[in-house]
Amino acid sequence: MPHALTLNAGSSSLKFGFFELGDLQGEPQSRILGLVERIGQGERAHIKAKGADGQVLLDQEYGRNHVPDHGTALARVVDFLREQRPDARLAAVGHRVVHGGPDYAEPTRLTPPVMDRLAQFEPLAPLHQPHNLSGARAALELFPDAIQVACFDTAFHRHHPWVNDTFAIPRKFYDQGVRRYGFHGLSYQYISETLEKTAPHLHSGRTIVAHLGNGASMCALMGGRSVASSMGFSALDGLPMGSRCGQLDPGVLLYMLMNEGMTPKEIEDVLYRQSGLLGLSGLSNDMRTLEAAGTEPAREAIDYFVFRIRRELGALAAALGGISTLVFCGGIGENSAHIREKVCEGMGWIGMELDTGRNLRGERIISTDLSRVRILVIPTNEEIVIARAARDSLAGAG
Ligand code: AMP
Repeated sequence: MPHALTLNAGSSSLKFGFFELGDLQGEPQSRILGLVERIGQGERAHIKAKGADGQVLLDQEYGRNHVPDHGTALARVVDFLREQRPDARLAAVGHRVVHGGPDYAEPTRLTPPVMDRLAQFEPLAPLHQPHNLSGARAALELFPDAIQVACFDTAFHRHHPWVNDTFAIPRKFYDQGVRRYGFHGLSYQYISETLEKTAPHLHSGRTIVAHLGNGASMCALMGGRSVASSMGFSALDGLPMGSRCGQLDPGVLLYMLMNEGMTPKEIEDVLYRQSGLLGLSGLSNDMRTLEAAGTEPAREAIDYFVFRIRRELGALAAALGGISTLVFCGGIGENSAHIREKVCEGMGWIGMELDTGRNLRGERIISTDLSRVRILVIPTNEEIVIARAARDSLAGAG
C-alpha cells in the first residue's frame, strides 16, 4: 500500500504526518502526526509523535546542536518512521509552501524549474519560504523516487477580485508581484471542504472563517470560495498575532526608518517577533499565558486582539454582502471559549447570537437555535489537505 509523508516547515519547527493512501480513491488515513521543535544552532531540539489513537509514540529531547537544520530534523523523522513502519512504501511527499506567488493556484509537482521559481518568492515571505524550500530540498534528496507536491498557503486566495488583489500604489509594483495574496489557505480549504460535506446549505452561503492561532487571519467565503482575506502581501497584515503586528499604517514604517534610524532588519524583527500579543502585553505571545495572567497589559492585549477581529468581521461581511455562518478555528479559535464569547458579544445587529452554554462546553454549533448566523467551531486540519493533494497527484501520475 502506498504511503504519503506531509511536511510543514516553520522557521524553527517541522510538523510531519504519515498517511496510508489505500487505493488512491478514498480519504488518506492519518497514522502518525508529529513535530520537531527548536531546530537550530545551539538549541536542544525536541521531537514528539502520536499515533492515530492519540497514543504517544515518541517524546525525546536531543543534545545541543544535534539538530542544527531542517535537513537533519527530517533525517531524524525518517529514522523514527522507518523504525515504526519498516513496511512503509513512501510514494509521495506533500509540502506546505507558504508562497506560490502570482503563478501557482493549485498543488504543483516539485521539479527543479518549479523549485527555482519558488526560490524567487523568498523575498515575499522571508521568514517562511526559505525553510519550506530547504525542507523540500532535503526530501527530494532523501526520497528521489517519491512524487513531491507543493501545497501553497496563497493558492486558495488566487481568484480574488482585482480590487481585493491590489494596493493603490503605482502599477509597476503589482506587475512585480506586490499584491494581496492572503495566507492560511490550506486551513480555509479544509474548512470549506468540511462545510461542503457536512453542511452543504451553509457552504453555499456567505461564510467568514476566523483562523485564530499563533498566526491569525480571517477569510470571507462565497459559496466556499475565498473572495477576501485579512492578510495581504505578507503574513504580517490584518489581525494582530502572537508576535506579529497585524494591520499597520505604512507611515509607522517611515517613522521607524527616518526618525528612529532603525535598519530594515531591526524593523523586520520588531514587526515579526516583538509585536502583536507579545508586544502589547510585554509578557507572552501565548494566549493561554495572557488569559491566566490577568494583568492590565495582558487584558489590553486581548482587548486589542478581539477588537480587530470584530472590526474585520464587519469589513468581511460588507465585502460578502452579509454573513450566514461564522467559523472559529486555530489553537485560540478552537480552544478559548472566552475569546469566542468576547468576539460575539453584542453582535445581535449582524444576526449573531451565541449560546453561552454550548460555547463553554466547546460544542460544534455554538449559536442559539434562533440565531440568524450559524456560529461553528471546526478544528482545522492542514495536514489532511496536503495528504489529499499528494494522493491526487499520485493518482494522476498513475
Ligand atoms: P496554533 O498556532 O493554531 O497552534 O495556536 C496557538 C495558540 O493557541 C497559542 O496562543 C495558544 O495559547 C492558544 N491556545 C491553545 N489552547 C488554548 C486554550 N485552551 N485557551 C486559550 N488559548 C489556547
